[in-house]
Amino acid sequence: MLADYHLHTPLCHHATGEPLEYVAVARARGLAEIGFSDHSPMPGLEPFDDWRMARADLPRYVDMILAAREAAAPFPVRLGLECDFIPGQETWIEQVARMAPWDYLIGSVHYLAPGWDVDNPKWIGRFTASDTAVEEIWVGYWRAYERCVASGLFDFVAHPDLAKKFGFRPPGDLRRFYEPTVEAAARTGVAMEVSTAGLHKPVGELYPAPELLSMMHAATIPVVISSDAHAPGEVGRDFDHALAAVRAAGFTHTARFEGRRRRLEPLF
Ligand code: ZN
Ligand code: FE
Ligand code: FE
Ligand code: ZN
Repeated sequence: MLADYHLHTPLCHHATGEPLEYVAVARARGLAEIGFSDHSPMPGLEPFDDWRMARADLPRYVDMILAAREAAAPFPVRLGLECDFIPGQETWIEQVARMAPWDYLIGSVHYLAPGWDVDNPKWIGRFTASDTAVEEIWVGYWRAYERCVASGLFDFVAHPDLAKKFGFRPPGDLRRFYEPTVEAAARTGVAMEVSTAGLHKPVGELYPAPELLSMMHAATIPVVISSDAHAPGEVGRDFDHALAAVRAAGFTHTARFEGRRRRLEPLF
């Protein structure tokens, strides 16, 4: 039985469905538990962008998930948050960590610079802007992701090689990008996500790539399998595919979270 800890809500303005609809799909698909992790509010002037909850909505978000937990009991519904990691803004994450009784915090890198979210289709032209663009974007992405992992602020980190979303990858062996992140994860003890969302993006594969997943296993980094659902029908989507990949890489357990404590659950 698997958990799906990366689920969104309408508070981020680009997801649909009520939490209990996500619960219903999770039960129907045989998941053991779920957790919500909507896009975190950010400090400073708002709106920060058009795809996250406002700071004023955070209490509403927490109330909504805790109410869903009560209504779904005994089916476990965990309270999480997908936090945008921006180097230099670590203190904001520390503040957010004290704002609610989180079961886990997810660290994500979407922003490479202010206003430059690497997975936003409106910037797709940047990948082909020059001969060295893809290499530069990957260097910037992995530098930020390594810092996200090394920060020790998160229980797990999301969609590891998100920079490949539109199918642009530098040529050759990509392990040079992965190595510092895997070393940082092994050092800090953070878990990493295997996300089925990439299967439905132009790249058409799991995040992470098979080579990175093997490196994660070699470094004994715990994994979670997530859908990154933005609609109820996406809960647990393609988990058979992710489970096969995780097993093929040698994993025997996935991580579970409650009250920011982790335990390992054997794969059935
Ligand atoms: Zn989203
Ligand atoms: Fe994300
Ligand atoms: Fe997400
Ligand atoms: Zn996400």
